[in-house]
Amino acid sequence: MNKLLIVGTVAFDAIETPFGKTDKILGGAATYIGISASFFDVQSAIVSVVGDDFPQEYLDLLTDRKIDISGIEVVKGGKTFFWSGLYHNDLNSRDTLVTELNVLADFQPKVPQDYKNAEIVMLGNLHPLVQSSVLDQMETKPKLVVLDTMNFWMDCALPELLDIIKRVDVITINDEEARQLSGEYSLVKAAAKIHQMGPKYVVIKKGEHGALLFHGEEVFFAPALPLEEVFDPTGAGDTFAGGFSGFIAQSENVSFDNMKKAIIYGSNLASFSVEKFGTERMIDLDKHEVVSRLKQFKSLTQFDIEL
Ligand code: AMP
Repeated sequence: MNKLLIVGTVAFDAIETPFGKTDKILGGAATYIGISASFFDVQSAIVSVVGDDFPQEYLDLLTDRKIDISGIEVVKGGKTFFWSGLYHNDLNSRDTLVTELNVLADFQPKVPQDYKNAEIVMLGNLHPLVQSSVLDQMETKPKLVVLDTMNFWMDCALPELLDIIKRVDVITINDEEARQLSGEYSLVKAAAKIHQMGPKYVVIKKGEHGALLFHGEEVFFAPALPLEEVFDPTGAGDTFAGGFSGFIAQSENVSFDNMKKAIIYGSNLASFSVEKFGTERMIDLDKHEVVSRLKQFKSLTQFDIEL
């Protein structure tokens, strides 16, 4: 088993969808990634920051899942990162209503000593300089570095974002963000441009329309499972990233063929995440449900054709 180091936000989210509204609940990119990766046999740690307004029960929830939280700094008198989003009727698009960086504004990440040799590094969504600092602290070169980011950082820290993009092996990004980053409408052209920025592998997430994995001339597509009910898409991308990196860490294999499987595992876990508000569904999800849905995934995409 490889060690998985995760960096990203641990946050309060307030979410509004056509089906309801929440007050501040547990959220954050690293939270979703960590919970999702915990469905694999991995040793993982989160590097992040919260204020002392962050409930102990949320931290316990992570440690209960065997996630090392010694790299989550708790700032005395500080306020935790807060994000609020409003989803439109189609649930594919959303408006960010509030992004309060709070303790994230001057966060200096510290990678726990035990994880300075982690083989897999998952740089979840937060300031690109924090993502870079985490890579700078690694004592051995990771086998795979995966980066997730969003339009917010393209708008407010593009040069820093381009610097970290140069240093990663895989980037996961949604379709609109891929278009914004590359200036290309066609996702094939967008992926080609993003390859030139550094990453050998480009994963473009298309929400309910699945995900594409580009590697040079090769392309792989994984559908999203058609779901009867989608309740709250928040964190689907991070859950996907957690499943992707968790599976890679468990299997200790960074080949393109193994990444295809990782994309299926990631999509499978993300399909649960959207069924309830916030992290609720992932918290009560059990491994049998995960396996049974994987079987559905298999039959969804399998066909015989004579060529
Ligand atoms: P996703 O739906 O996959 O984009 O992830 C949503 C999660 O990302 C929420 O739990 C937020 O707390 C977190 N988030 C939102 N905006 C940002 C940001 N600018 N930087 C880091 N994390 C963010």
